[in-house]
Amino acid sequence: MFADLSRAAALTRDLVRCASVTPEEGGALALIEAVLKPYGFDVHRPVFSEAGTADVENLHARLGTEGPVLVFAGHTDVVPTGDVSAWSRAPFEGAIEDGVLWGRGACDMKAGVAAAIAAVLDHLDAGGKIPGSVVFLITGDEEGPALNGTVKLLEWATARGERFDGCILGEPTNPQAMGDMMKIGRRGSLSFDIEVEGVQGHVAYQHLAKNPIDGLMRLMAALKATPLDLGTPHFLPSNLEFTTIEVGNKARNVIPGAARVEGNIRFNDLWTSVTLGEELKRRLAGVNDVPDYRLVLHPSNAEAFLTPPGPFVELVSEAVQSVTGRKPELSTTGGTSDARFIRNYCPVIEFGVVGQTMHKVDERVAISDIDTLTAIYRRAIERFFRL
Ligand SMILES: [Zn+2]
Repeated sequence: MFADLSRAAALTRDLVRCASVTPEEGGALALIEAVLKPYGFDVHRPVFSEAGTADVENLHARLGTEGPVLVFAGHTDVVPTGDVSAWSRAPFEGAIEDGVLWGRGACDMKAGVAAAIAAVLDHLDAGGKIPGSVVFLITGDEEGPALNGTVKLLEWATARGERFDGCILGEPTNPQAMGDMMKIGRRGSLSFDIEVEGVQGHVAYQHLAKNPIDGLMRLMAALKATPLDLGTPHFLPSNLEFTTIEVGNKARNVIPGAARVEGNIRFNDLWTSVTLGEELKRRLAGVNDVPDYRLVLHPSNAEAFLTPPGPFVELVSEAVQSVTGRKPELSTTGGTSDARFIRNYCPVIEFGVVGQTMHKVDERVAISDIDTLTAIYRRAIERFFRL
């Protein structure tokens, strides 16, 4: 029935059938190992640990010993399905109907992993050479805490003496159609809480109490009073959002004793999590009639970064253009990704399939998009190794 299914599409389907919800390996890495080994890849599946989190298995595969070294990175773990009865196809069945593959992880990002593997193997099957090395860095801990995944996999590979020259991460980057968008950086993320201490009392005896909500509102207004910045050539303006306010007071005749707000900032390359934390402190300290408050800055593992347009960005962009006929927008939008770790080792860009259904019920990917992505990766391989 699927006699004409491409290697990339078939591998995506087989990966979708592995129920690899973080931190479960689900058979996905074993499948990749089995596919790569016959082609001479040296494959390792290191398991990483961290106190307080589940152990997670990862995969490192390398073909070749010389440079230059092209890396394809990705993850096989997926987010939970949610209510399975809400899905129109079983999320781990890998159903293919009318040119669409359904299932959790189909677009985020088993298609990206499968397309990269298929691109390399198709190239080899066609008699192509790899005058250098190809490395796959595949983690099972991207959608979870991301502590036992790419960060440690990079350290592990570096400890073995490996160096990388360029990395393509196959996250779904296209909003509508293949060729829309490539990511050359990501904004950073900083979370914070503010707790205000007041004096609880009777609403009719307000002079005997001190309402923390008034003070909290002044602090919140000060944080939002002026924009953090106006954006930079490759980034949107940094943005602060309050995400919850907690007072926990059910009685209308009681002035509460404490109030707190939580928030998150997505910031561009004008800031680091440290300079941004200083800016928050500066803004709060300037408030009139400043209440008793405590600012908590959560540790950030996501600084803003940019892979500046240059030879590697050009190379992948040209590959996209040669296959789709469209020049992709170079973007830094969206949430964080493992590119934030990889960028410390080599230039990294992100390009994958269309991301419309990622993390949703009825996640799915068009088979034709998987095949287009494979063709783009294959072109990038040829360009990278100057073939
Ligand atoms: Zn992803």
